[in-house]
Amino acid sequence: MIEHFHSIISNVSSTISKYETELKKPVIGVMPAYFPMELIDAAGGYPVQLWGNNLPIQRSDTYLQSYCCSVARSVLELEMKGGANMVKAYAFTSICDTLINLREIYRRLFQKPTFELSIPSTQTEQARRNYLKNIIDTVTKGLESVTGKKITQNSLKDASAIYARSRELQRKLYELRQTKPGVIKNYDFYAVLKAGFFLPRSIYNDMLEGLIRQLEKLPAPSAKRPKILMSGMVFDPIEAYKIFDELEIHIVDDDFANGWRTASKTAFNYKDIYEGVTQYLFQPAPCCCVYNPDLDRHEYLIKKVKTSGAQGVIFWYIKFCEPDAFDRPQLIGRLKKEGIPSVTIEIELSMTNFDPVKTRINAFCEMLEG
Ligand code: SF4
Repeated sequence: MIEHFHSIISNVSSTISKYETELKKPVIGVMPAYFPMELIDAAGGYPVQLWGNNLPIQRSDTYLQSYCCSVARSVLELEMKGGANMVKAYAFTSICDTLINLREIYRRLFQKPTFELSIPSTQTEQARRNYLKNIIDTVTKGLESVTGKKITQNSLKDASAIYARSRELQRKLYELRQTKPGVIKNYDFYAVLKAGFFLPRSIYNDMLEGLIRQLEKLPAPSAKRPKILMSGMVFDPIEAYKIFDELEIHIVDDDFANGWRTASKTAFNYKDIYEGVTQYLFQPAPCCCVYNPDLDRHEYLIKKVKTSGAQGVIFWYIKFCEPDAFDRPQLIGRLKKEGIPSVTIEIELSMTNFDPVKTRINAFCEMLEG
């Protein structure tokens, strides 16, 4: 069963092409992070999430400096190399300066339509909603012009139900991993999450349900080495999780933007699209890229560590993600005050040599084992 998820992420292009033909829906590329897939689905599009890839960076260096993160550089590389020909339009959010500028580059270089769901930095929920109203109208009109279909309350209701189910199943998977550490390998766990970026959700939901049924029957393996919580923007490069498996380290929870921060989102409010988008963007997990004075990342992370039973935190840092880097020193300091050890591991999505990463992870766990 798990092989099926791996096969999807090893054959992303053929997977997307297959379902594009079957569904007869335009593929919409969704850039990081938090663009509600429900809007695209309800407009009759086929959303696929692009959280970066491991292509060697060659052409995109012409437009993006080498100190931009490999998420942005690699998605641009993919488009420039013609690897995203099936994508008919791109949906962006304004989570960071890099992505805001990346959209401008796309608009100048390519003919494909782009939409930006601009995330406001305001103090109150009402101010957020007021700001978002115009933005949402522009985004939905843009989507409808690509798909040729209108978003209706019924189509939004159906999309909301499918994605709510999907995230509910993912939360179940998180719960299983936490209550039975090792019941699913780290490498397999993230392959399952990643497959969801590319598959139509109803198909993904069926696969995920089947997997969860199997995992529920399995006994909890005995955990010998330390339990870890991971924090960062993206969980890739996925190959790195073979190291955790080799070292028999159990990741029991995470705070990744494309992991728990998204999986924790509740059902999209289809009755009020403005309320739905506002809630989706700002709740329930805090993020370094979304200003929300009502949510404190420090308390949130500490609570997660304590609830999950993790003995330490690994900050999985994509070089050179500014929002993530700006929050980290304070988070590390707060964890330290609570006596929770942490380590920062710097990564690039295109990296192929994981030996230094392995050495650091092992050294951190040996330190935890005391
Ligand atoms: S990794 Fe950081 S800098 Fe790169 S796109 Fe994501 S938020 Fe922006």
